[in-house]
Amino acid sequence: MRTAVVVGAGVGGLAAAGALARAGWKVTLLERDDRLRPGSAALVLWPNGVRALRALGLAAGLDGISTPVPPAGIRRPDGTWLVQPGVAELESPPIVVHREDLHDAFIAGLGEQVDVRGGVAVQSARVHRDRPAVGDGRVTFEADLVVAADGPDSAIRRRLAAASTFASAGFAAWRAVIPWYRAPELPAGLDPHGETLGSGQRFAYASLGERGSAGGSTRGGIYWVATVPGALRPEPPAGQLTLLRRWFSGWHAPVAQLLAATEADDLVQEPVGEITPVPETFGVPAGAGGYALVGDAAHAMPHHLAQGASLALEDVATLQTVLAGGALGPALQEYNRLRRPRILRVLQQSKKAAAVLQTRGRLAASIARVNPRTLERAAAAAAEWTGPTA
Ligand SMILES: Cc1cc2nc3c(=O)[nH]c(=O)nc-3n(C[C@H](O)[C@H](O)[C@H](O)COP(=O)(O)OP(=O)(O)OC[C@H]3O[C@@H](n4cnc5c(N)ncnc54)[C@H](O)[C@@H]3O)c2cc1C
Repeated sequence: MRTAVVVGAGVGGLAAAGALARAGWKVTLLERDDRLRPGSAALVLWPNGVRALRALGLAAGLDGISTPVPPAGIRRPDGTWLVQPGVAELESPPIVVHREDLHDAFIAGLGEQVDVRGGVAVQSARVHRDRPAVGDGRVTFEADLVVAADGPDSAIRRRLAAASTFASAGFAAWRAVIPWYRAPELPAGLDPHGETLGSGQRFAYASLGERGSAGGSTRGGIYWVATVPGALRPEPPAGQLTLLRRWFSGWHAPVAQLLAATEADDLVQEPVGEITPVPETFGVPAGAGGYALVGDAAHAMPHHLAQGASLALEDVATLQTVLAGGALGPALQEYNRLRRPRILRVLQQSKKAAAVLQTRGRLAASIARVNPRTLERAAAAAAEWTGPTA
């Protein structure tokens, strides 16, 4: 039986562990936290991410836990339109899903066979022996395949692609889900989701409905994400919330209402940045086996296009396909051949989106040069991925 160690239990790692186990691999999943926890707040999944979930057999209950968020235009802080709705051509709309609901679906997808080890913070990765092996300084885990899904600060990437590091994009971001029972009523006539762009600041929100709405098991609530130029804030969450309320004061409804209804415990601050340069390969041979880098460990990028999780799922769906083809070495080469150019294309779109966000903060002349519709177009272009074909 082929063996795999998956490092990291985020979206990429959970999806990879389940896919490998279902394909008959003996899988050990290592997570540095003591237990498996959902990531923060909610996620937008674009059609490419939904296709990847489908390819992984994880899309069955998705309708019951997700809400469609068709592109709804972009407003200025005073509420007037910067970009009218209905521009982007999409075959199907993106969806928004509560992280806890998605996490439950992934845990169910792990099945009974995956050996889950919490409290294991991998520090080392061995390349030059007969098989790959990773360790946390106490125990060494050896396998035919190691999937590095340990996020933007990946210890494994640091060993395999030392030149590639996580660099700040000059933004800080906050996410929150206001639970359904204290979510404010959205003003009549306003879309249940929306996006507003100020001078480098951005605020987007999406209703997740009431608990159990859409006939499914969704936890409901209202999700929002705020992006602000500058470094991470050192204050405790209550102080960060005060700053956010000040920075976004005077913005059109429902921005202030949502920030007023948010409690410090709802809030998660996150760095915004990218892995640069992109590693030369996402598939690294080691003896008779090898490593696959997936998700943010391989290619974290700013969240401007909300593509990180969808790309991680694409990685895993592609890995599943190439591994079904047989020998590990050629499969990892093929994995890299399929994924690296795709990631470079999305990065290009992400940089176009970043140019819009950053230019909004500069002179009016520059604003005129960059069409804010670029944001929607870049997002639609990034979503064009039809499936893992080896
Ligand atoms: C503000 C913001 C908004 C975003 N919005 C969206 C969105 O709407 N849609 C979208 O698709 N993407 C979005 N993203 C990006 C998305 O969150 C990430 O791309 C995605 O979660 C990456 O998943 P991952 O599994 O690769 O990594 P992670 O989620 O970072 O998971 C890594 C896991 O590895 C574990 N780990 C780390 N180091 C070790 C170690 N040494 N040993 C063992 N375990 C370890 C961690 O504890 C974690 O569980 C957003 C990002 C930000 C910052």
